[in-house]
Amino acid sequence: MKIEKIELNLLESPIKMKRSQGVGTIQASIKRVVLRIRTDQGIDGVGEAQAWEVFSGTNENVFHAIDVFLRPVLIGRDPRDIPARMQECDRALVANPEAKAAVEMALFDICGKLAQVPLHVLIGGKFRDTIPFSFSIANPDIHADIELAKQMLAEGHRIFKVKTGFAAPAEDLKRLSLLREHLGDAFDLRIDYNQGLLPYEALRQLRQVEPFNPTFIEQPVPRDAIATMAQLAAALDTPIMADESVFSPAEALRTVQERAADIISIKLMKSGGILKAMKVNAIAETAGLPCYGGTLWEGGIALAAASHFIAASPNVSLGCEFYMPKYVFLEDVLAQMTPVAAGHVHVPTGPGIGVEVDWKIVEKQRIAFAG
Ligand SMILES: [Mg+2]
Repeated sequence: MKIEKIELNLLESPIKMKRSQGVGTIQASIKRVVLRIRTDQGIDGVGEAQAWEVFSGTNENVFHAIDVFLRPVLIGRDPRDIPARMQECDRALVANPEAKAAVEMALFDICGKLAQVPLHVLIGGKFRDTIPFSFSIANPDIHADIELAKQMLAEGHRIFKVKTGFAAPAEDLKRLSLLREHLGDAFDLRIDYNQGLLPYEALRQLRQVEPFNPTFIEQPVPRDAIATMAQLAAALDTPIMADESVFSPAEALRTVQERAADIISIKLMKSGGILKAMKVNAIAETAGLPCYGGTLWEGGIALAAASHFIAASPNVSLGCEFYMPKYVFLEDVLAQMTPVAAGHVHVPTGPGIGVEVDWKIVEKQRIAFAG
């Protein structure tokens, strides 16, 4: 079996609301990359990458990285030998985890379709059919989010992650008070600073948010402030989750060694795909740290792939924030959305990633193509 063609689409996808979190804000639309890998046996695989310029990189760079640097090492090769293909990608191009995640998910999609099994069967089999669903409260208009959260509570959703650190500390406390006041205690509150606090002020500020009883506090300080992360994890009762501090397996190991977090957020866009996400999870699990399914701004293709990873990984036990397709995009690129119901994401059951792309929508949102 051979890879014959790689079709790349840079999309600009309209979104419903402004979102502010820690280091940055998105508004009106987000860019992402959707790719299709075609083989000589008529089986295609799809993949998706999303990069956030203040977090990891740019979508233009992802597009260029695959087009110019990964394409030559993939064309003509066997898509079924995924570890070999990914090692060649790593040797051809340093970093660029989002680009590699998109390529790897398309290869897994091909293998799953070939074997007629869902992706999670290829990586060890299924531990769970559904994943607890978390929605991020990130609208600078807190009252708009309270209304949305009320509606979501009525639909059975129970986990809300509040984005903090983009406004003054007093403003964050006011938003948290308003949430508890309007929504009560019947929800699981998590707090994510997206690196928004400076190390010198973090402990005092976080002591003030602990009374709101969050399940965890995510990435309060900049990614390289490992010593501060360790101090906070030791000083606070609330578990500290590393997000931006852990992209790679090596960073997961450092976090464990330095005791710099109690939980790790895993994103395929950070790790560079499922195989490396499994390594991050194995390191965390061995050290006794549970993991969580995070995202950047990717849509239904990438999130379905990540659902398979979580389905096959018992230690990724704290849920996922796979809300973009249903709650933020005006229109995703799938013919049918992966179901989110009663507070859970349902793991796809079809072969491969188990999604069908609507290529007309891809064309509509496309701003660049390479094939
Ligand atoms: Mg985060």
